[in-house]
Parts: sequence; C-alpha cells; structure tokens
Amino acid sequence: MKLYEYMAKKLMNQCGISVPRGEAAFSAQEVEQKFTGLDSPAVIKSQVLVGGRGKAGGIKFADTPQEARKVSKELFNMQIKGEQVTGVLVEEQLDISSELYLSITVDTGTKKPLIMASTQGGVDIEEVSDDLIVKRHIEPDWGVLPYLCREITDQLNLPGEASKQVSAIISKLYDTFKTYDAELVEINPLVITEDNRVIAADGKMTIDDDAMYRQDELPRVSEKTSLEQQVEKIGLSFVELEGDIAIMANGAGMAMATVDVIEQYGGKAANFLDAGGGASVEPTKKALELLLNTDPRAVIINIFGGITRCDDVANALVQVKQDMGIKVPLVIRLIGTKDEEAVKILGQHGISAYQDMGEAAKKAVELAAEGGVGV
Ligand code: GDP
Ligand code: MN
Repeated sequence: MKLYEYMAKKLMNQCGISVPRGEAAFSAQEVEQKFTGLDSPAVIKSQVLVGGRGKAGGIKFADTPQEARKVSKELFNMQIKGEQVTGVLVEEQLDISSELYLSITVDTGTKKPLIMASTQGGVDIEEVSDDLIVKRHIEPDWGVLPYLCREITDQLNLPGEASKQVSAIISKLYDTFKTYDAELVEINPLVITEDNRVIAADGKMTIDDDAMYRQDELPRVSEKTSLEQQVEKIGLSFVELEGDIAIMANGAGMAMATVDVIEQYGGKAANFLDAGGGASVEPTKKALELLLNTDPRAVIINIFGGITRCDDVANALVQVKQDMGIKVPLVIRLIGTKDEEAVKILGQHGISAYQDMGEAAKKAVELAAEGGVGV
C-alpha cells in the first residue's frame, strides 16, 4: 500500500526526521486557511500516488493567500498520469542549498534492507549514474550502527555539520522503515537549507500489504478507481483498462485470455472482470450493469461452465436485457455445464451465443469498430 506524501512525512516526523511545517488540505478554501496559518511563503503540492509530479506541474509556489487559493484551484482541476488531484499539501517554502537522495528498500536478492544515498537528489534516482549512488545493506540483526552512517556520509563527501545530521536521519529512516513494515521509504530530495538544516522536502512510503494486519494505526489508502471500488463491494475482481470493449469472464485466467484474444483481433479491452467461479444471477447482473454504465462500444462475455452454470449466466443476461436494455453490441461465448440450455434461453430472447472463443472475440472487435446497436 502506497501512502500519500503528507502521510509519509507525518510518520517520518514521528520517528524524529525534520519535515517542513505544513498541513494537507482538500479544497481551495482550506488551502487559503492553511496558508494563512503557516505565515510564510508556501509550496502547494498535489497529493498523488504516482511519481514525477513536479515535472508534471503538480507543485506550485504561493506568496499570498489569494495566490494560494488560485494555484490550488489549478491543482484540484488537474490529473497527473490519469490520477485526479483531490488533496494538496500546503508547506512552508524552504531555502534550498543542496538536494540529496536517501532511501531504504528491501533488496530481494540478498533478503536485506538496502540503503541508497546520493548527492544527486531532486531527480529520478533511475537517472542518476550508478557511481554517484552509495549503496549499503543493513544486517537486520544489527540494525543501523553508527559506523555504517559514517561510511555513507564520508562517501557522499558531506560537510561536517550536514554529515552529522544526515547520519542521524539514516538511522531514523530505518526506524520508520521497521516500525511501519515498509517495503520502501524514500526522501527525495533530502534538503540541506541555506541555514544548514537537513529537512525531508519529499516523502514516499510503501507498506508491505502482508503486514497490514498489525498496522492498525496506519491510514488505509486505495489505488482503485471509484468504479473498481464499487465492483469490489460486489465481491468481484475488476481492473479498468484503456480500451472500449468491456469484458466479463469467469476466472482470472479466462478473463486474461479474453483480454489477449481481443487484442489479437485488433481490439482494445476496456477492463478485466473476473465474475468468479460460481457466479449466480445477482452478482452477474450487477457486474454487467456496471460494465454497461462505462459506455463501452461492445461487450463480450466469455464463460466456461465448470462450477458456473451457463444457464445461470443466460438468465442473468436476460434479466439485464429486460430491466435496463443493452444498448451496445453484446457477444457471448458459452461452453460447458448446461450450455445447451443457455443457448436455448438466450435464443428465445434474441441473443446468440458462440462456442469458439476466437470467433466471439473477432465478432466483438468487428461490432465495436462498426459502432453497432444492442440486442
Ligand atoms: P516530486 O516531483 O513529486 O518528486 O516532488 P518533490 O517534492 O520532490 O519536489 C520537486 C522539486 O521541487 C524539488 O526537488 C525542489 O527542487 C522543488 N521544491 C520542492 N519544495 C520546495 C521548496 O520548499 N523550496 C524550493 N525552493 N524548492 C522546492
Ligand atoms: Mn521527489
């Protein structure tokens, strides 16, 4: 689970790392209030889970409350890599002298935490040449001992006062990493200010999902879209994709195969939807209603009737057709348990079904391209 910057900074600060004064805000009005409370020029930073926010224009500066309100409105109207900005962090501006990079991750190769540090902060670490990054593993039984921090700051060639502060921060960052069962804690940039304070100007944390059961005090952050959250409530597994052919299949393997075969015939899947192994009428109906609400150009339903009975699926389809109508082309592929009954039920209601997956996918792609009408 990824945390927003303002959450990560709060946890880092609780472990003793200095962060800029500031607070999160969720409306332009609130930004203005928080700005006034700060009583200093501010940075207004959009809170999103994707990286590269600064480059995408998601960070603005403001010197007056009016300016703070104005730039925050721009941010709240922004999407960064498809993620809508709903919150911002209003922070005191720092006078930056230099920017460092500092992170701790799990190195799965050695099965040990890995510290990475560099004087080339403020840019993507992937862009920094390897010989400018200091890397040191942490022995979990020992933790971060003072010599390790000294070795790192020596290699970075930091001036005396900064090196003491950075050493302390490395050890506190490991406290944060351990306390919250993180897979990643990253400060980029770790700023040395004009008056020689060392402050975390950015903060990133990813928590190990398998440790969430013992991290009761952490906030729960979902990366799912609102539609994905709705479908999750019905108990189905659903991921939004970028295409225009909606897909429903039973079983994750079947759903992935359907995405693939749609692409093979030149189409683009609008989603991945695993309607489950034993989909009964109600959830199937709900899932299909949700899919139709996303305005696809066609829908393909791909069912292998093992545990799922094809006639259940057919009955659900007929109900949806009767309740809300299906205004886009619908292609059905059914095979397995009670498939003959299913084809009969569908046929009685003017819906035809295929047995071959390739044929069905090809048809769905054709109908989507033609922009055909529904059944
Ligand atoms: P990111 O692009 O999402 O990683 O956002 P960051 O929080 O790392 O900010 C990107 C860059 O904006 C930093 O590397 C700084 O150069 C600049 N920046 C952020 N906060 C401040 C600030 O308080 N003062 C100044 N002068 N620059 C800042
Ligand atoms: Mn950053």
